[in-house]
Amino acid sequence: MFQKILIANRGEIALRILRAAKELGIQTVAVHSTADADAMHVRLADESVCIGPPASRDSYLNIHQILAACEITGADAIHPGYGFLSENAKFAEILAAHNITFIGPSAEHIRIMGDKIEAKRTAARLGIPVVPGSEGAVSDDREAKRIAADIGYPVLIKASAGGGGRGMKVARSEAELSEALSTARSEAGAAFGDDAVYIEKYLEKPRHIEVQVVGDGAGNAVHLGERDCSLQRRHQKVWEEANSPALNVDQRMRIGEIVSNAAADLGYSGAGTVEFLYENGEFFFIEMNTRLQVEHPVTEAITGIDLVHEQIRVASGGGLSVRQEDVRFLGHAIECRINAEDPRTFVPSPGVITHFHTPGGLGVRVDSGVYSGYRIPPYYDSLIGKLIVHGRHRVECMMRLRRALDEFVVDGINSTLPLFRDLVGNVDVANGDYDIHWLEHYLAEKP
Ligand code: ADP
Repeated sequence: MFQKILIANRGEIALRILRAAKELGIQTVAVHSTADADAMHVRLADESVCIGPPASRDSYLNIHQILAACEITGADAIHPGYGFLSENAKFAEILAAHNITFIGPSAEHIRIMGDKIEAKRTAARLGIPVVPGSEGAVSDDREAKRIAADIGYPVLIKASAGGGGRGMKVARSEAELSEALSTARSEAGAAFGDDAVYIEKYLEKPRHIEVQVVGDGAGNAVHLGERDCSLQRRHQKVWEEANSPALNVDQRMRIGEIVSNAAADLGYSGAGTVEFLYENGEFFFIEMNTRLQVEHPVTEAITGIDLVHEQIRVASGGGLSVRQEDVRFLGHAIECRINAEDPRTFVPSPGVITHFHTPGGLGVRVDSGVYSGYRIPPYYDSLIGKLIVHGRHRVECMMRLRRALDEFVVDGINSTLPLFRDLVGNVDVANGDYDIHWLEHYLAEKP
């Protein structure tokens, strides 16, 4: 087992990792920018190192400084959290060259899944259902027309190097195709320095359903069920549930098995998420995230399995703590992402939190790095906490969520709490009846 883990992240996820490490009796090192000297993860870690000025590229993305912090403290492993360096294959390689364990999958697997065309090809080879579309990049307009006619309009043009929902264009007819292709290529070139694009069938009303998997890197993998993250705004997840209200037990086990078999075949190591669009009873692979996800606690709530413990165990060569037949799915869980943002305009709202009171009681978990008197710096993403509620079934979970939201107090800044208080009382949300566009429509129509 590791002696000391350096946490190359900030905010709630740094604290989340720190908690898991402490439970396993492992020393922790926090790194932080000058803007985060007062952060909770810095206070709670055994040691901390300042790695640079506020801008992420000079601190949380600064590989030299992070390596130096490992050297100074003698950390033997790094947990990257999510975002920042978590899906940077080069970083994983550099750590390996310095005999520091990267708590995550191999650099090779990170690289494959970071290239959308390669990822899709690999998924299809491993037996995962993918969205119908071009085999690879499409450079010729005539070929594009033939493919689009084959799969049927509307189609979606996607950038191979894309990310964060950028570089995508819908074409609803052949007349729109050429223009969509050239706009998508030039946007992709400008944004990612790579203008390769590919074509997919555009799904009109899908849900976003993703499967959590953990592999030991030696050909064993288990799936921990799915999460439904269909409530999104600008491709950002807002509310996540496990299980999905749209699936039954058979569907859950069938897609889970496909994913765990694929991860086992690949020799995948650590935690990963295979994301699908789901429409009319069918799953279509969109991407695999080779890291821990923001919404992982809903899976922990219904399985009782600590995903960060599993990541650490696997990375240290200790294997998985569970076999598939040991995994039980109990009840229902929902996570709300509480952002420091105006609940109507979503404009970020940095500043001092004058009062912060979190809900408690049975089935309530709050993962947050903030506290009363904390000043939210303007340099990073606006997530200030996650409220995760668990109940024996979805109805109980919703009742408990409404109660927990009532107790939650965040004063001094704007937060998205009022949005969740609205959503928990909405009839479509209560019925689990929503697709990936539902929230955008709801927000547009709200008086
Ligand atoms: P990124 O890496 O940029 O996040 P994804 O492939 O994960 O790209 O897609 C981002 C979002 O775009 C998805 O969550 C979904 O909302 C939408 N999307 C992607 N592919 C399709 C598709 N074939 N049909 C409809 N919507 C899609």
